[in-house]
Amino acid sequence: MKPGLILINPWIYDFAAFDLWSKPLGLLYIAGTLREFGFRIHLIDCLDVHHPGMESDRSIPLPRRQLFGTGKFWRKEVPKPHCLKQIPRPFSRYGISKELFVHELKRIKNPSAILVTSLMTYWYLGVKEVISLAREIHPEVPVLLGGVYANLCREHALEFSGADQVVGETGLTATHSVLAALRQYGIEGETESLESDRLPYPAFDMLHGIDYVCLLTSTGCPYRCRYCASHFLNSNFLTRDPHHVLEEILYWVNRFEVRDFAFYDDALLVGFDNHLAVILEELVRLDLKLRFHTPNALHLREITPEVARLLYLSGFRTIRLGLETSDMNQHDEIDHKVSAGEFENAVHDLHEAGFTKREIGAYILMGLPAQSVDSVRKTIEFVGRLGVTPYLAEYSPIPHTPMWEMALEHSDYELALEPLFHNNSLLPCWDKAQRARVPEIKKRVQAFRMNRA
Ligand code: SF4
Repeated sequence: MKPGLILINPWIYDFAAFDLWSKPLGLLYIAGTLREFGFRIHLIDCLDVHHPGMESDRSIPLPRRQLFGTGKFWRKEVPKPHCLKQIPRPFSRYGISKELFVHELKRIKNPSAILVTSLMTYWYLGVKEVISLAREIHPEVPVLLGGVYANLCREHALEFSGADQVVGETGLTATHSVLAALRQYGIEGETESLESDRLPYPAFDMLHGIDYVCLLTSTGCPYRCRYCASHFLNSNFLTRDPHHVLEEILYWVNRFEVRDFAFYDDALLVGFDNHLAVILEELVRLDLKLRFHTPNALHLREITPEVARLLYLSGFRTIRLGLETSDMNQHDEIDHKVSAGEFENAVHDLHEAGFTKREIGAYILMGLPAQSVDSVRKTIEFVGRLGVTPYLAEYSPIPHTPMWEMALEHSDYELALEPLFHNNSLLPCWDKAQRARVPEIKKRVQAFRMNRA
């Protein structure tokens, strides 16, 4: 019989969480690839909003779903961890019930290994809990942990997660590291190589219902923003063959009638002419009435009238721009990715192409070390006045980024000891007086969203 593997996407424990095209894409790639290598894959997605086992559970309210496949998760309020007791907000576990998770684990007999993924560093409580439960039910089975938290906080993960091993690679090639780690335990699939040198598609078909598919046409980013871990996690900027990406989109459309696609690229528009343009021109020709979304921001300086035109005609409906701040002196210090006039030009081109205010949003970083509240406020005004919807992106300090040392200096929290303090909801690099002005900032954002500014 084929060796069985349990793949787990853990719960989120946080003050807030929302399904903004959030899927464990890395884990789904690994699932799709290991299936081709001849493993039996059992996927447990703790964030599955369509799990049939939740239908009869009345203890958790039904999550409200919204436009384009986004929406709320299942949510159950839980006690706060001791170190967050002073935060006056409810804390919740997002995802399926614990009983259902245990039931799922028990259904799988004699797995050879358990693979767990991780995302935000401050979500490790969910990781730790699924590993602990998996160990109770399958005590002799090795547990491998991968993903973002595991790579950014490797020592912490080795000490506290309960996993046997941390797999030290992310991105499209992480499956090689997983296969190598499995071999150390004598676990092999039915075949040692794949027929094609193309990576199999991520296993969205193993989910209960596909609201949308997440696409990765490239990994890494040529920029080096001081607050971002992209370079640490994927040191090279690599692109896939655009024809293969197009085939993948058509596969999901024709086999599963998927209409919404979210791009997970960090640098989707870089090298546009020979990459994304090839895909979009064909999509315009096919006119499939698809909708595309860019929850990871687009680079402003890559947007030209032609880029905007193709984005619009091919069906992009959610455009997010990585502005971060309108203060160009601050850009010189933190990222060098925006110069004076580039935001205005990009917005002009997008409007000319046909995008509305509702469809164009700009991310504004809030809570950076040494950033003033007034500079955030000015950026909101700047964005709103140009007919773009402002979106606040609260800064989370991330280990291994160039800004990490500065974050440590500016925070009252023990960031280096406790990843829960990286939580962006805490605004851990702002002081009490700055945090006290957040409601005023949020009110201003809301006014622009509601057209009341
Ligand atoms: S441009 Fe975006 S993805 Fe690239 S380094 Fe900067 S923040 Fe990260």
